[in-house]
Amino acid sequence: MDVTEILESLNPEQRAAVTAPQGSALVLAGAGSGKTRVLTQRIAWLAQTQGLSPFGILAVTFTNKAAAEMRSRIEEHLAMPLRGMWVGTFHSLAHRFLRAHWLDAGLDQSFQIIDADDQLRLVKRILSNLSIDDKKWPAKQAVWWINAQKDEGLRPNHIQDEGDLYIRTHLSIYRAYEEACDRGGMVDFAELLLRMHETLLAQPALLNHYRERFKVILVDEFQDTNAIQYAWLRVLTGNADKLMVVGDDDQSIYGWRGAKIENIQRFQSDYPNAISYRLEQNYRSTGTILDAANALIEHNTDRLGKALWTDLGRGDPVSLYAAYNEIDEARYIVERIKNFFAEGNAYRDCAILYRSNAQSRVLEEAMLRSQLPYRIYGGQRFFERAEIRSALAYLKLLSQRHSDAAFERVVNLPPRGIGDKSIQIIRDAARSTNQSLWTAALNLTTHGGLTPRASSAVSGFLNLIDDLDVATENLDLAHLIEETVDASGLKAFYEKEGGEKGQARLENLEELVTAGQTFDPDDVPLFDEAVQPDMTLLDEFLSQAALEAGAGQGDQNQDSIQMMTMHSAKGLEFPLVFLAGLEEGLFPHQMSMDEPGRLAEERRLCYVGVTRAMTKLYFTYAETRRLNGTDRYNRVSRFVQEIPATLIEEVRSHEALVRPAYQTSHQVKRVASEVSGTEFQLGQKVGHAKFGEGVILNYEGHGQQARVQVKFEAVGTKWLMLSFAKLQSI
Ligand code: ATP
Ligand code: MG
Repeated sequence: MDVTEILESLNPEQRAAVTAPQGSALVLAGAGSGKTRVLTQRIAWLAQTQGLSPFGILAVTFTNKAAAEMRSRIEEHLAMPLRGMWVGTFHSLAHRFLRAHWLDAGLDQSFQIIDADDQLRLVKRILSNLSIDDKKWPAKQAVWWINAQKDEGLRPNHIQDEGDLYIRTHLSIYRAYEEACDRGGMVDFAELLLRMHETLLAQPALLNHYRERFKVILVDEFQDTNAIQYAWLRVLTGNADKLMVVGDDDQSIYGWRGAKIENIQRFQSDYPNAISYRLEQNYRSTGTILDAANALIEHNTDRLGKALWTDLGRGDPVSLYAAYNEIDEARYIVERIKNFFAEGNAYRDCAILYRSNAQSRVLEEAMLRSQLPYRIYGGQRFFERAEIRSALAYLKLLSQRHSDAAFERVVNLPPRGIGDKSIQIIRDAARSTNQSLWTAALNLTTHGGLTPRASSAVSGFLNLIDDLDVATENLDLAHLIEETVDASGLKAFYEKEGGEKGQARLENLEELVTAGQTFDPDDVPLFDEAVQPDMTLLDEFLSQAALEAGAGQGDQNQDSIQMMTMHSAKGLEFPLVFLAGLEEGLFPHQMSMDEPGRLAEERRLCYVGVTRAMTKLYFTYAETRRLNGTDRYNRVSRFVQEIPATLIEEVRSHEALVRPAYQTSHQVKRVASEVSGTEFQLGQKVGHAKFGEGVILNYEGHGQQARVQVKFEAVGTKWLMLSFAKLQSI
């Protein structure tokens, strides 16, 4: 695009921001108003009309996905190689700097980046070296504390314990952690930014070089910067006027991770010459979607306040589906997506957004069953998550002691004092005798070969598995899983870990129990009973899990449905959007309901979710939800109720099932949730000659071909062909 084209594609305020004189600038504007577009066009404009070399540009975004998108948008506008240009996330840019200046930064040339898991393992080792009781001082908490200090720019010698035991203990861990990182040439994520910041301050020549070099600095999603990120921008900018930031206070969603909305005010006082631009036209969403978003966010106080309008027309109302349960919710979403695709649209144009990762499992299953391609962003597929794989490894050992992969995975997880050395001895023994690790371990503990301590730890593990096997012999699958998660120590392990991540892992483990409850081998199309005559239910469950994990992510280019948490959806847009699980306790999340500050952040998160939608938005919620192993009976989220009823069209499950959860003047369109083309309905009680009484949870197909999923009181959940099952209505 040449300059005239660029300028013609912008509205007057956008144009003013894009062509702003070199200087400090703040673009504060609502979702979909073109903030990201202004940034990219400004780069093109500067390069094409102001003779600015791409080499002189520093542009920062929040996620790798956003950075990639910005790079490709810039490439579209600029026929120039982008290699010299610094476009990326804070972390990736700091990493690049440290690679180039490792010596100045006091790092090894071959320094390694460590991720959150490595960090946790390192801190655990440190706790045991320092003889600190990790029951009293959980490693996870120590990691969190250390990262929080770094995000504030604080080294151990900046921190005074003032007699506070909590601080003193963590401080000693922080010190030892730093030493270990320095010795091992390891750099964690928070360290990247802090180290770059310190290096620039300590090396005036280097700082001058970069201040000279970067003629303009541009920052997207500025509302979510934390203290060290702001300091980093500040040091690179100095007192010059060359920093342009764009953001939206209503989309600040990382307060829980230390982001500071106040940085917006801080920017204005640190750069008093900054020109402010306000963009008010939204180019993304229909009038209805935008009105819904505006109405929602009005319920927050302390906003900087802005209005958004669109000329894209009213569009469809937002559809609200009250599902009977989470399975029905997933089924409904899958059905809508199938229609959308049948109308000639691409799967990639639709997104399912949810509050917590554990919600994805039921949705994933529904999509797998319908063979719809999907991709999960910023997260893993359910059965690939670390805690799930660990729990599955225990289950696997119950069924097959000789599975070496399972043995390796959990022999010292949770840690039970079996070190790398002992594991190596077991491995060597197994290899030399050509036996499984299990057998080798058993021999070593009975005939010697390990230190007494290791030997007793290893026998402890072997006994744990054997005992658990006996104890769970008569349990059904769900209880078997529950007992395993508990007795293995995994549950306690993650409980102790605490924090947002530990909580998520626990939720996932509970969700695995739910998976066991609803597991039905008939769902697994690949199994042929004739081939696998004596598979236990557990074996079938494990095979199913392996298949789902192995299915892997659809590759980057495959057209697939986009699934992600609302946090990961920031900055993105999709024609069709589902916000799933809009229930009190789930969203807003239970933990945030009593605290106004956190509730406001949840509402901003909902605003982010709503404003991702371009053409059509669905809200769904389930009246009963089995999540994380428990049944919840939920009211619809307050966020739905905060949106005027006139914007919402309610699509109901069968009336008889629905408790009056949402009694307002919504126009109710009754869409049958009867099993398509039959006299049965979801939630209906039925009787079966052999299985007794049950309730219809879900169905597939139509009329004579329909299959229904029935939860029987006596025998659990089964899929049945309606035409054979001879169900009686009760
Ligand atoms: P968010 O707050 O969600 O990050 P944003 O303010 O960054 O949103 P963009 O992603 O830049 O908004 O723009 C939203 C959509 O509107 C994009 O598809 C963009 O291409 C389009 N758009 C922006 N400005 C214009 C314009 N002047 N004319 C046509 N389309 C526009
Ligand atoms: Mg944006």
